[in-house]
Amino acid sequence: MIPINLIRQYHFCPRIVYYNLLTNIKPYYPRQVSLGEEYHEIQEKLSKNRKFVKLGINYDEIILNKYYENEKLNICGIVDLALICKNEIVPIEFKFVDSKKPSYSHVLQLYGYGLLISNTYKKDFNTAIISYSNNMKIFKIPITPKIKNDFFDTMKNIEQIVKNDILPNSSADENKCGQCEYLNFCDDRF
Ligand code: SF4
Repeated sequence: MIPINLIRQYHFCPRIVYYNLLTNIKPYYPRQVSLGEEYHEIQEKLSKNRKFVKLGINYDEIILNKYYENEKLNICGIVDLALICKNEIVPIEFKFVDSKKPSYSHVLQLYGYGLLISNTYKKDFNTAIISYSNNMKIFKIPITPKIKNDFFDTMKNIEQIVKNDILPNSSADENKCGQCEYLNFCDDRF
């Protein structure tokens, strides 16, 4: 099964998917990653008592840090936060990133989590929410056919990498490779 966090990773660099799924390499994670994990833990603790009034969404149940998988869709992952409403579900992500607007790879990843919950609860899924740590601004993202198509295209590409079992080409530039945990294993880089 494909972990949904690899959707975002694939768009950063497809080789990360290869290293992650097809090798036993233990990558070295930069300090930013552990800071991100700490931020997630804090947000999870806070979310237990939050009412999310600012979102203006009537919900019946909150999902917090729960693992889901769907064999038919071939995806799995831990959902950080989701609101289960009467007729729909709304996945939410708090990201430890400075950003003025949602990155498309974050949107695709969140679509994957929404898809998992929507299939589990058999409810509609029309909106996802992302909040970035720099200003805690909330972005409500309508789910469009393009997001859906791009998600499944990415899944096909990831499945192809697994099937080929060959290190894929990458167009990652110096900036990306410089912050990548697998830099020591890419012989054709800097
Ligand atoms: S070092 Fe560069 S090419 Fe290699 S996996 Fe990382 S981002 Fe991709």
